[in-house]
Amino acid sequence: MRKLILLAGIGLLGSFAFHTSSGDTVYVCVSPNAKKFHYSKSCPGLQKCTHEIKETTKVSAEKSGYTVCLKE
Ligand SMILES: [Zn+2]
Repeated sequence: MRKLILLAGIGLLGSFAFHTSSGDTVYVCVSPNAKKFHYSKSCPGLQKCTHEIKETTKVSAEKSGYTVCLKE
């Protein structure tokens, strides 16, 4: 049983590490009214963007004043 928990823990850590390394890319709408960054390019909030959609990083988006979109 202990071994099982350990394995699950490693799996969880592994997926977390994968998520943080690959989850760094976000999408923003280059519009003066846009305030959110999106993890998914197919997010409904992003589909409303009538301007250019720019791929950036979470850190860079936050520095530009964008906050995370909660619609996805
Ligand atoms: Zn979104």
